[in-house]
Amino acid sequence: MSGPSNHDPGRFHRLASRLLDAVYPPRCGLCGDRLTHGRTLCLPCGDDLPRLCAPFCRSCGEGFDGRIDGDFTCPNCSGVRFSFEFARPALVRDDRTLDLIHRLKYQHEPHLAVGLGIIAREAFDDPRFAPALAGRWPLVPVPLHRARMRERHYNQAEEIAIALSPLIGLPVMPLLCRTRGTDTQTALGRRQRMENLKGAFAPTRLGRKRAKENPQGVVLVDDVLTTGSTMHECAKTLRKAGFRRVFAVSVMRG
Ligand SMILES: [Zn+2]
Ligand SMILES: [Zn+2]
Repeated sequence: MSGPSNHDPGRFHRLASRLLDAVYPPRCGLCGDRLTHGRTLCLPCGDDLPRLCAPFCRSCGEGFDGRIDGDFTCPNCSGVRFSFEFARPALVRDDRTLDLIHRLKYQHEPHLAVGLGIIAREAFDDPRFAPALAGRWPLVPVPLHRARMRERHYNQAEEIAIALSPLIGLPVMPLLCRTRGTDTQTALGRRQRMENLKGAFAPTRLGRKRAKENPQGVVLVDDVLTTGSTMHECAKTLRKAGFRRVFAVSVMRG
C-alpha cells in the first residue's frame, strides 16, 4: 500500500502556489493586505486569532471559562481513556479560525496551511512536548482516504505538518494510512464516532519499519480536534504497531 507521500500530489500544489506567488504577490487570507514572502496571514491577523489559554483540559484541550486550580478533565473526556497522552490545540474555535480551516479543507486553498502551521507551532511551547522535541519524533499527519485524496488533491493535515516541520525541527512521516472511508462525522456523538472509526487506519510500510527501529514516540497532526475520536483511533493504531508514546497537536479545538 502506498502512503500519501509516495505520489505526493501536494508537492505539485506547493510548487504551483510558489509560482503563482511570483506572479501575483500573496495577500493575507483574512484581511487581504499584501504579504511579505513566506506567509499566508499578515502578522496582525495571525496574532489576533484566539489562542488556547490555561486552564484547559489536560487530555483534549477543551477550554474552561473561569479559574481552576490544578489539572481538570472536561466532560468530553471524563470516563474515556484516549490512546494519545494528550492533545494540544493551538487555537480555540471562532468564526475566523473556522473560516480558514474550512477554506483550507474544502475550498482548495492549501496555501493557508502555511499560516496555520506557523500558529500551530506555538502549541509546542507547551512543556509536555519536550520529549518529542528532544527525541526528534516524527510528525504524523492524520491520513485521508484515497478517494478523498483524489477529489481534494492534498491532505490538509499533511500540509499543516509540512509547514510545521521546519519550525520545530521534526520530520514529517506518513506512518499511517486510511483503509476505508468513513461517513462525515459531524452529526455524530463521541461514542458513535468512535464506533464509526474502528479499524479505519493502518500503519504504512514505513510505519511498521519505524515502529521496529525507533518506537520511542510520534506526534499526530490534524487541523481540528473535536471529540478526539479520530486522534484516538490513529493513536491506537500506532500504539498497536509498537510506538510507546503518542502526543497530538491540532490547529483548532473544534
Ligand atoms: Zn491580515
Ligand atoms: Zn477533555
